Parts: sequence; C-alpha cells; structure tokens
Amino acid sequence: MTAIVFEPATYYDAVVRCITETCPNYTEPPMAVTELYSNAGTPGIECGLCGQPMEILSATVMDPQPEVP
Ligand SMILES: [Zn+2]
Repeated sequence: MTAIVFEPATYYDAVVRCITETCPNYTEPPMAVTELYSNAGTPGIECGLCGQPMEILSATVMDPQPEVP
C-alpha cells in the first residue's frame, strides 16, 4: 500500500506501475505520469493495457499547478 498523502484537487507528477500480474505492463519499469489529479485526495490511475488500478510509487506536487481551462 502507498503511504502517500494527497492534497485534494491538486495535480501531481507521479511514478506508477501496474500491479496486475497477468498484464504485460507488470514486468515493465515504473512509468512517469504527469498531471495526475488527486480528486478529493484519492487519485486514480488505470493501466492502459489491463484497465486495472495502478500503484502510485511516488508523487510530487506540480509547481506551478497546471492551468485548468
Ligand atoms: Zn496493466
């Protein structure tokens, strides 16, 4: 489990990996994700291949925050 605490409604630069053992991405190295939105404090990101939630290994608040149209 992740111990990262996310601020609500904040964009992060994150590093994620797929934790679904049957997925081809499972053996791939962690991937960088930019503009990961934290929603109400629980960012969700799904693997593009298997569609399952990915594990967030690390996350850094974007500074400055991206402009939201
Ligand atoms: Zn996957």
